[in-house]
Amino acid sequence: MIKVEHLIKQYGDRYAVNDISFEVKKGEIVGFLGPNGAGKSTTMNILTGYLSSTSGRAMVDGMDILEHPLAVKRKIGFLPETPPLYLEMTVKEYLNFIYDLKKCSLNRKAHIEEVCRVVKIEDAMNRMIKNLSKGYRQRVGIAGAIIGNPEVIIFDEPTNGLDPKQIIDIRNLIRELGKERTIILSTHILSEVKAVCDRILIINEGKIVADELTENIEGALRGNRRIAIRIEGPSAAVLAGLKKIPGIIYAEISVEHEDGSATYIVESKNEIDVRKPIFYMLAQRSWPILSLEFTGANLEDIFISVVDEAAETADTKNTKRRI
Ligand code: ADP
Ligand code: MG
Repeated sequence: MIKVEHLIKQYGDRYAVNDISFEVKKGEIVGFLGPNGAGKSTTMNILTGYLSSTSGRAMVDGMDILEHPLAVKRKIGFLPETPPLYLEMTVKEYLNFIYDLKKCSLNRKAHIEEVCRVVKIEDAMNRMIKNLSKGYRQRVGIAGAIIGNPEVIIFDEPTNGLDPKQIIDIRNLIRELGKERTIILSTHILSEVKAVCDRILIINEGKIVADELTENIEGALRGNRRIAIRIEGPSAAVLAGLKKIPGIIYAEISVEHEDGSATYIVESKNEIDVRKPIFYMLAQRSWPILSLEFTGANLEDIFISVVDEAAETADTKNTKRRI
């Protein structure tokens, strides 16, 4: 359905997108996962025809977006990072405006009502957009994106800035929409792609560094265990002590607390349980453990595991990547 070949976007001598190629099949929900500045929005803006590429090709349903910009735009619904809502319009006015803009030929009233039903904003039809909550506004943006029944929908960070309840609602809505459509969404949150997508493309510094089915993404991780542990004691000495424990491959101070304790993040090889040696080392020096918990893999872990091996050995680089 979507085919991107060797896409490059340069700003001056900087690469925002550096030779990206991927395909998305009809009906797939694909997640673009990457930190800020990775090139997600740039790629999406090129795919939707809002931005031109420096080189490379993007095709939607067999059509090159440069050769058939209008036909391609008709196939794609786009929710940009900041949806261009007209705050002084009511929801109904806005959706009618988008309907006209897209030169939609479906039955106007019935279609707009249907779209509002799908995104659950029927009760807000006559309200001004400026008076709506962020979650509702996002729904209005999504409503705009699905007017004209596009086969493909592209969401750029659709849950950014929403509260937890709104995030769950929007994710459910995206999954619902994904039952009948091809969807690409971008996010910098690992749990989000895992919750919503069939496949995950990890993008970092303008390059795709992993392309995995969601169920396999854990396997693409380095397979380390991560523990967050709060310890009372002189932090530099505690950190040095932790780093000396066999099996611990990484340790850092994540938070210094006001009571003189600090929380450390410790990483060990999956097969080694370092909890006991940590306990004995600390007990010997009378540095009490206030709490200890396993934490899941986070995005940085994935980047470290897939971006390049050099990051694992170069300590300074390693630290930089984690911040
Ligand atoms: P993401 O959406 O993953 O956060 P973007 O695609 O917005 O990343 O940006 C990728 C890189 O391109 C960033 O380093 C950003 O600073 C740069 N960039 C984006 N737009 C412009 C622009 N108009 N001019 C110069 N650099 C840009
Ligand atoms: Mg972005």
